[in-house]
Amino acid sequence: MLHERLASIYDNVLSRNPGEIEFHQAVREVLESIGPVLAKHPEYAESKIIERICEPERQIIFRVPWEDDRGEVQINRGFRVEFNSALGPYKGGLRFHPSVYLGIVKFLGFEQIFKNALTGLPIGGGKGGSDFDPKGRSAREVMRFCQSFMTELYRHIGEYTDVPAGDIGVGQREVGYLFGQYKRITNRYESGVITGKGLSYGGAQVRTEATGYGCAFFVEEMLKARGTSFDGRRVVVSGAGNVALYTIEKVQQLGGVVIACSDSSGYILDEKGIDLGLLKQVKEVERRRLDVYAERRGDGVSFVSGRSVWEVPCEVAMPSATQNEITGRDAEALVRGGCVAVGEGANMPTAPEGIRIFQEAGVAFGPGKAANAGGVATSALEMQQNASRDSWTFEFSEQRLREIMCDIHARCLETADEYGMPGDYVAGANIGGFKQVADAMLSLGLI
Ligand code: GLU
Repeated sequence: MLHERLASIYDNVLSRNPGEIEFHQAVREVLESIGPVLAKHPEYAESKIIERICEPERQIIFRVPWEDDRGEVQINRGFRVEFNSALGPYKGGLRFHPSVYLGIVKFLGFEQIFKNALTGLPIGGGKGGSDFDPKGRSAREVMRFCQSFMTELYRHIGEYTDVPAGDIGVGQREVGYLFGQYKRITNRYESGVITGKGLSYGGAQVRTEATGYGCAFFVEEMLKARGTSFDGRRVVVSGAGNVALYTIEKVQQLGGVVIACSDSSGYILDEKGIDLGLLKQVKEVERRRLDVYAERRGDGVSFVSGRSVWEVPCEVAMPSATQNEITGRDAEALVRGGCVAVGEGANMPTAPEGIRIFQEAGVAFGPGKAANAGGVATSALEMQQNASRDSWTFEFSEQRLREIMCDIHARCLETADEYGMPGDYVAGANIGGFKQVADAMLSLGLI
């Protein structure tokens, strides 16, 4: 239920941004949490902070022409939404996926504002991407696409302005091509203009692992807060991309048994616990489908085609694929199957109905804004290292990541307590992130 003033702000967001359903969903979730903050802090409403936060500072949409391997011209659409720079330069990844349109980029950019605030590091919120589909494209096609994309994007970004990184479809390879083109066009070796770079040219240790590791650390904290741990627990991770792989790695190190993961073709069920070396070989090195994993792993491992991985009963669920992948029905099935904790490695993977079901059932629910903030936090550490022309060790970087995740966890719980909603990580994350940005905006005047 929305407080009266917030309901009218939400109606306005709907009418100003027609058809952008993911953006509406992300806004609504935050507005549903911040009613009690407005009651305590009338200055936010007086200065129209919420209306301002819901309107991006700048939205850039551009044409991306490129030539495929057959010499045919292809046209895609590129986006960069610079949402909020009250806390620092716009920061957020680029997503290359056929589903990308303005509504997706805006939902991601909006989430990013609060997530980035929660890290406690000086980064604003932004997001970008394209409807380019990397699936089935050769490395040279991907390179040509990235070069064309950067040929427009370069004029909008910069170490002190806007710092992109990866997201779905954009990993270290793509970041390399993008950075290479930026460097060529500008004639500047401006390492801090993009994060997620390779270690040989200014990348940071633990950045590749950061989102997954961070999510595992966050869930470990949620379990600890309930007097338990990962030890021996059955864990299901959705996805098989960067976030999923490194979630599996850290969960295994923390004693959990990851029995299933998925890709767009279906899921694998491996009761003995996933063989991560084989999974990385199939997904990262060969870029193939999960049936190849099942075939090579042999005995007792099944590949289930075209079904949701959330039908597998587990104690901990870590959705690490994409938005709205856990529906209300999935959440009901998970609760019935004995799920006690959910950590969102992806952005907004649980539909609102699913969140309600988890919370009513008393499941510890860690929303993406908090649980997957380790990726962008480590990007901010990469920016720090680039600015000081330094590079930290793996151990030190992982330690920093762990501290940041513990701090975010504590801040969510403390904020939820302060506002009379103990244990509600959604409220804690939304209120904590919102307050920090709102206070900065108040101090900066009418921006
Ligand atoms: N795309 C990631 C996220 O959703 C990382 C963004 C970044 O490192 O800037 O937070």
